[in-house]
Amino acid sequence: MKCFPFSPAATVRKFFPNADDKQVDYLLWNHTGWPCFWRTGAERDIKHSLRHLRRTLDAGKKPCDLCNDAADSPYDERLCRWCSRAMARPRRE
Ligand SMILES: [Zn+2]
Repeated sequence: MKCFPFSPAATVRKFFPNADDKQVDYLLWNHTGWPCFWRTGAERDIKHSLRHLRRTLDAGKKPCDLCNDAADSPYDERLCRWCSRAMARPRRE
């Protein structure tokens, strides 16, 4: 059964041509919205996320765990400033 009209792995390899199967899975599951998409469609969302990740890595920066932006928060080394601020916000009950 074919779920998508494109190959998610081939899309990942457009941005990371040397990625093996394990790395492709990691990139899909950890740096894109895979398998849930809510903005403009799966292929476009994957490309958008990986383009963003590629840009961050090419700049020599570590990506945020949540959004692929540069992890530059002064409060949490795994997050960018925006995600760090959002995570620190008090939750509504
Ligand atoms: Zn972030």
